[in-house]
Amino acid sequence: MDTVIRKIDVNNIDREVMEEASQVLHRGGMVAFPTETVYGLGADALDEKASAKIYAAKGRPSDNPLIVHISDIEQLDKLVCEIPDNAKKLMDAFWPGPMTLIFKKSGLVPDGTTGGLDTVAVRMPNHKAALELIRTSGVAIAAPSANTSGRPSPTTAAHVADDLSGKIDMIIDGGAVGIGIESTIVDVTSEIPMVLRPGYITMEMLEKVVGKVGIDKAITGPVSPDVKPKAPGMKYKHYAPKAELTMFKGELKNVVEHINNLTDKNVKSGIKTGIIACEETKDMYKAGEVLSIGSRNNEDTIAHNLYGVLRKFDDMNVDVIYGETFEDNRLGQAIMNRLLKAAGYHVEKV
Ligand code: AMP
Ligand code: MG
Repeated sequence: MDTVIRKIDVNNIDREVMEEASQVLHRGGMVAFPTETVYGLGADALDEKASAKIYAAKGRPSDNPLIVHISDIEQLDKLVCEIPDNAKKLMDAFWPGPMTLIFKKSGLVPDGTTGGLDTVAVRMPNHKAALELIRTSGVAIAAPSANTSGRPSPTTAAHVADDLSGKIDMIIDGGAVGIGIESTIVDVTSEIPMVLRPGYITMEMLEKVVGKVGIDKAITGPVSPDVKPKAPGMKYKHYAPKAELTMFKGELKNVVEHINNLTDKNVKSGIKTGIIACEETKDMYKAGEVLSIGSRNNEDTIAHNLYGVLRKFDDMNVDVIYGETFEDNRLGQAIMNRLLKAAGYHVEKV
């Protein structure tokens, strides 16, 4: 299949591109498009055959449900059985935005879209092109991240093309995304809302709106095989670069020294080593391929750069990657969740 790539100016969206993409969606095809979190791979959420194509293109396990994207609250009524009060409060506070809510699904949403679950994940993205595509097509768009399953999520159209060129109908190139990590997933079917995946909207932000919020235990660390994460996708290895990633925690200067020692040995044995550093430490590394993920004083920048850095190490063909760890409160919780999963929870204390 030829994948058509269309560039748009997000502040002056070309109607013809939106029409072309809508036609692809109407005939059951797939369009990758930018959102404020990461690029999504979209298809008609209510067309089971169309959402099945997403699983095939990504190589995604069929029990890993898709998030349905809407542009207007009215679209929600036909997707869900009920809208709990907590959901209304959260939607008022954070939609459009990087928060996905889990509802009991209506009969209109096919099992193929929800991986066989009786719940459905819904989000209203805060991105002009994404909203325009949903409005122009009139389609509720099922869209997981537009990467090959397991690889780092795409934050540019080039990342999407690297993974999915030839497998999907169209890519809308709206430039680099803003946030860079996926939405916070909140299950509002229980009395106390539960975070199933940390994201840009932090626990503190949610708690200000609805009071107590829980967090699914399975996402805060490696768990025994019998504890199943409530978001099925969280049980798979994810976000991973090709080379094995090991994270090091401890006092920063000790971490740098330890990584320097390991890298020194690697260089002598011809092992190409990537290092995830930060602005504050990047000049302290003596060898290896050093990439700064951003300043420790600016978590937004770290989130924004995270997947791009992991993908760059793939392009550089490094053999191993060593990474510093970051604080794990507020947005750091989402950052460390992604990095630890990318590392298969391989963290060493130094
Ligand atoms: P992605 O869109 O690739 O970021 O992945 C979507 C995430 O949402 C995966 O981790 C899914 O397991 C999760 N998800 C989607 N639908 C549901 C649902 N109904 N219940 C729980 N988690 C869900
Ligand atoms: Mg994904």
